[in-house]
Amino acid sequence: MATIFTKIAAGEIPSYKVAESDDFYAFLDINPLVEGHTLVIPRHTEADYIFDLDSETYLGLMEFAGKVAGAIKAAIPCKRVGVAVLGMEVPHTHIHLVPMSSEGDLNFSNPKKELSAEQFKDIAGRIAEAFNNL
Ligand code: 5GP
Repeated sequence: MATIFTKIAAGEIPSYKVAESDDFYAFLDINPLVEGHTLVIPRHTEADYIFDLDSETYLGLMEFAGKVAGAIKAAIPCKRVGVAVLGMEVPHTHIHLVPMSSEGDLNFSNPKKELSAEQFKDIAGRIAEAFNNL
């Protein structure tokens, strides 16, 4: 059975898309630590654990995530974009990209931001525009 993230990448479940390619998909985390918190996933493999990916997918995912991080940095005021892989909840490899102003922003025990649909759309649009201008 397809994972929820496979369905998101296929457009079967809605998401706030920030970037995509044939092989990878980036969208806003629905329970963000901060504005601009983004998830990057491979479309065609549902491996649960990032280090179980085949090399081509792993390297491609990291390269794509690096570009998305560049777009986040350009669109969202932050000191740098933190990178994390947890997988405690969804068993489909995903990289968290979190715009950070301080170390504490990458604490996944922090309360999550509650954003409106308009805010999500605005943030995704800004990152998507920056991605297209890379
Ligand atoms: P993890 O598996 O890395 O521990 O956590 C999964 C992450 O995916 C969480 O930050 C959670 O908010 C996010 N997430 C779970 N389900 C959905 C969903 O349906 N849509 C979006 N955009 N994010 C989700």
